[in-house]
Amino acid sequence: MTDDLDLHYHGDDELDPADADLLDLAVNVRLARPPDWLRARLHDALDGLAAYPRQHDAIAAVAARHGRPPGEVLLTNGADEAFTLIATALRPRHAVCVHPSYTEPEAALRQAGHEVTRVMLTAPFTLAAVPDQADLVVLGNPTNPTGVLHPPEVLERLARPGRILVVDEAFADAVPGEPASLSRRRDLPGLLVVRSLTKTWGLAGLRVGYVLGDPDTLATLRRTQPHWPVSSLALTALEACSQPAAVRWAEEQATRVAGWRSDLARALDALPGVTVSPGGQAPFLLLRVADGPAVRQRLRERGIAVRRGDTFPGLGPDWLRIAVVAPEHHQRIAAAFASAPEPAAPPARSARPASVTTGTVTLIGAGPGGADLITRRGWRALHAADVVVADRLADPGLVRELRPGVLLIDAGKAPGTQQLSQQQINDLLVEHARAGRHVARLKGGDPFVFGRGGEEAIACAEAGVPCTVIPGLSSATAGPALAGIPLTHRDLGQSFCVVSGHLPPGHPGSRANWAALAAGPDTLVLLMAVRNLRAIAAHLIACGRPDTTPAACVERAGTDRQRVHRGTLAELADPDKAPDISNPAVIVIGPTAGDLSGPADR
Ligand code: SAH
Repeated sequence: MTDDLDLHYHGDDELDPADADLLDLAVNVRLARPPDWLRARLHDALDGLAAYPRQHDAIAAVAARHGRPPGEVLLTNGADEAFTLIATALRPRHAVCVHPSYTEPEAALRQAGHEVTRVMLTAPFTLAAVPDQADLVVLGNPTNPTGVLHPPEVLERLARPGRILVVDEAFADAVPGEPASLSRRRDLPGLLVVRSLTKTWGLAGLRVGYVLGDPDTLATLRRTQPHWPVSSLALTALEACSQPAAVRWAEEQATRVAGWRSDLARALDALPGVTVSPGGQAPFLLLRVADGPAVRQRLRERGIAVRRGDTFPGLGPDWLRIAVVAPEHHQRIAAAFASAPEPAAPPARSARPASVTTGTVTLIGAGPGGADLITRRGWRALHAADVVVADRLADPGLVRELRPGVLLIDAGKAPGTQQLSQQQINDLLVEHARAGRHVARLKGGDPFVFGRGGEEAIACAEAGVPCTVIPGLSSATAGPALAGIPLTHRDLGQSFCVVSGHLPPGHPGSRANWAALAAGPDTLVLLMAVRNLRAIAAHLIACGRPDTTPAACVERAGTDRQRVHRGTLAELADPDKAPDISNPAVIVIGPTAGDLSGPADR
């Protein structure tokens, strides 16, 4: 039985190396870097790198740590090499992988050409019957991602002559006291225990692990190993981390993390819509949430990466795995889980049909131009998306570095040209979200300022697609600011108004009350007004705005081609004097657009 899961999916696929602030709950490596004493040992070992690696001392240390003779230890390039050796050196006729579980063992078995039967456990994930005829059984203990610790007496019953029982104990030393570890059991036939230094010691990059088992089986595995499988630095780490003092240190860490685990589990379990899968004892939590993809997206927007459950066989999109981290992060994590998605459309129109979607739409304000004027939240959401629908005003630099495999759709709408109609864009957003994708709709400025973001949000609401809005710096306020033009001033401007100039005064479709605008706000900000600028300026003068009123035009604000014209309303209205302005431009009319230098006490 297979499905189209990517068995090589890892927690670090959830990460973005460029986002240093991300709270990484997706990868289960506990330390950000190896402890200082271990780093010092590794540093000292650099001097020995001229010599070929010698395994003797490391094997002796590992053997002593687990109370076994050295012949029962095989050192490997991380636990993953152990799975590959098992898959390539052994000849199982009936291999079984117990799931949900870490997928690399199954991937290695399939890669080596073996059929694999999956034994699927369902919540609460206690071990069910394994087929009698299975001659190779692989399971994790504690199991990743459920955290469930199968009791030793249950595992014992799985061991029998003629069968290899592989127990992946990558997380065993994270459980205080290692109560269910079989690493010291020399009496169980066919038992192979796979361990790694990755999780506890902050050594994922070193690739270091080992297999414990009977010497004959290990000899078979060793025959397929390259001659120098484990580097000298890895051997140093193995020796150092197997010493009694190091094991005690790990035990203290495990006890501390177990306390954090209970606290975090309690905080999250109290939230509506979040259930912590019970019985777990590993340094991570398996959560069941309502609408997992939307929750994952929301967490991502709040700078938190989690591991998606649907990359594990047997778990759907509503399961998430999170690493247990120190208490100082708990409040932030709980708050991010607690934050309900804001309804993006006006309530009256947001009557949602029963949701059939697993995807989401995020309307992201890109800011007015210049790739660094987007918010951090917007940037994160953009880089978490599967599909990006970008418009003309969003800086092209923003979509240049999307991760591979992202579908980028250019919905660019230059004035006069119409590549995609608004209806087509709405349909596109809904279609992709309904297909389970996270869609980022990247819009210039703020999505809800003349951006038609409202229409897109309503379309999503009507289609039952969860939609969130991430505001952006609007060109209406940021454009003038980038040109050094304040919209308000204690004496000169106490109000401002943003108006669309896409229709000229007097046009039957125009809803702008130009007479009121001429008399009302101190500062007028015009968007989409380039084409009708002369008509608007003339009409404002006719309605009583003094023609000496300062006026400024800011073209391509925030980009490296920004240009500013300063003058008066009269000049804007005069066909001979009007500056040659090109799109996009924001126009500021009012005293603050003039020369503000003056007496300091003004
Ligand atoms: N949602 C956008 C506005 C979209 S309407 C926002 O909040 O900024 C498009 C108009 O915005 C353009 O006609 C122009 O008036 C203004 N605009 C957008 N980007 C601009 C930029 N970089 N410089 C000047 N004006 C800009």
